[in-house]
Amino acid sequence: MINSLTLFVTYIKNFKVLNQVRCASQVLPQFSSEKYKVKRKPFGTIEASDVDYFKTVLSEDRVLTDDNDVLPFNIDWIKNCRGQSKLVLKPKTTQEVSTILKYCNQKRLAVCPQGGNTGLVGGSVPVFDEIVLSFMLMNKIISFDEISGALICEAGCILENLDNYVRERNLIMPLDLGAKGSCHIGGNISTNAGGLRLLRYGNLHGSVLGVEAVKADGTVIDCLKSLKKDNTGYHLKHLFIGSEGTLGLVTKVAIHCPALPKAVSVGFFGVEKFEDILRLYANAKSSLGEILSAFEMADNDSISSTAKNLKLPNPISDYPFYVLLETHGSDEAHDSEKLTRFLEKEMESGLILDGTVTSDPAKMQTIWNLRENIAAAGLVEGYMFKYDVSLPLRNYYSLVPLLRQRLGAKASRVYGYGHVGDGNIHINVIVPKYSPEASSMLEPYIFEEVAKLKGSISAEHGVGFRKPQFIHYSKDANALQLMQQLKQLMDPNGILNPYKVLPEI
Ligand SMILES: Cc1cc2nc3c(=O)[nH]c(=O)nc-3n(C[C@H](O)[C@H](O)[C@H](O)COP(=O)(O)OP(=O)(O)OC[C@H]3O[C@@H](n4cnc5c(N)ncnc54)[C@H](O)[C@@H]3O)c2cc1C
Repeated sequence: MINSLTLFVTYIKNFKVLNQVRCASQVLPQFSSEKYKVKRKPFGTIEASDVDYFKTVLSEDRVLTDDNDVLPFNIDWIKNCRGQSKLVLKPKTTQEVSTILKYCNQKRLAVCPQGGNTGLVGGSVPVFDEIVLSFMLMNKIISFDEISGALICEAGCILENLDNYVRERNLIMPLDLGAKGSCHIGGNISTNAGGLRLLRYGNLHGSVLGVEAVKADGTVIDCLKSLKKDNTGYHLKHLFIGSEGTLGLVTKVAIHCPALPKAVSVGFFGVEKFEDILRLYANAKSSLGEILSAFEMADNDSISSTAKNLKLPNPISDYPFYVLLETHGSDEAHDSEKLTRFLEKEMESGLILDGTVTSDPAKMQTIWNLRENIAAAGLVEGYMFKYDVSLPLRNYYSLVPLLRQRLGAKASRVYGYGHVGDGNIHINVIVPKYSPEASSMLEPYIFEEVAKLKGSISAEHGVGFRKPQFIHYSKDANALQLMQQLKQLMDPNGILNPYKVLPEI
């Protein structure tokens, strides 16, 4: 008998602060196929002989068929989607991935690749009985060049482990996100994850030097160069960055790691209104220039509920909005002086109502904890509808009050926070319990509004299972047709992560 509490513990065991979380409802989520009324495509069905075959490719302990073992791989982090897979495979090498895919392609068995299962759009879990191919055992670092900063590793390496490894060698990973303790670098690349410091270090299309990937038919595509420059024909690695496991499975990664900053400072400020945040952002860019590494905002609801639900301290008092600003530089005295001067000047101008600046690692972590756990804190209260959109900065916060008004008492809370520097806001809507009525008040309304404002319906989380039917709000018909043609070329039987990213024709 499957115990939902065990399931929940499995979810959160990798998250440090999340260990404090208690789920409001410990009921297993409804099957995605029923909740979203999806029809199974005519794929093959797994038989005992298939399982026997996989046991010859992998050792027996890497072929999971027991319901209790398979369950956590069927449910996504947000507890929104639930698949019905009966089989999880855990390859350790590219050759094993290739052999598995070749067999699945021949037998038309669908496959759902899974990294750390922290994705927020239902892309990482099956919808029906797709085989889950987990990268958790492909976690070796292959090489690291301390001079060039090129790290080559397997796809299943956990982001935080990679960051710890390169930090010991005076470099950092070029991306950082709240899920770093669980997400895999292969998952990051497959979702083109953005994160907290994109403002400074750019996105993965810039920092990924090369990838090795396996096509649906088992062909290994070796683009694992660690060069900064390589203009030999089409830049194929980009096909795998952000394609969410629909064009090929990423098995190895070469990534450029920037230098470890010698001086890091964090400022946390209380602000009266959203327009003041925009003015502060413009002033921060001009006053702090090259050392600005993150500029994050959160509204009062985001911070007060995170502090309350997870019992995290808020170093300043209650304000309508908050800004978390970080600098990465090379001279501690110079950087913190610059930041303190910025704080003083903006307090005088009235844009900052109150604030604190620190270079103390423990204090900086306390502040980051508040920001990084906003998503997790919402899960405690009920069912979360989660949106990740990018908007022109002037309209960045405009959807939050609009949704509050539209949902009225139906929502327990509607709140917004995100990466101001990237124009990326996360909007969470908490309702006591999932209801199709609340869902239809939100969707497609929110995507229509985003399209009207010329934004994107997915800034960084991807399209996954939850958004293919809305992708047309952000991609034109010809672009969608080209995407379908690429899919047909690379995965003609459609076995890789079906029901995800591409809309039904
Ligand atoms: C608390 C929290 C904070 C987050 N913050 C951010 C943030 O700041 N920025 C951001 O961009 N995202 C964020 N996310 C979302 C998520 O962490 C990222 O999308 C992350 O990159 C997913 O990595 P993963 O290893 O967990 O992938 P999974 O969730 O396992 O998979 C994500 C997608 O990639 C595919 N996939 C996974 N591995 C492979 C592979 N090796 N080859 C091919 N396809 C693969 C899956 O099929 C799925 O479609 C956050 C999530 C949480 C829970």
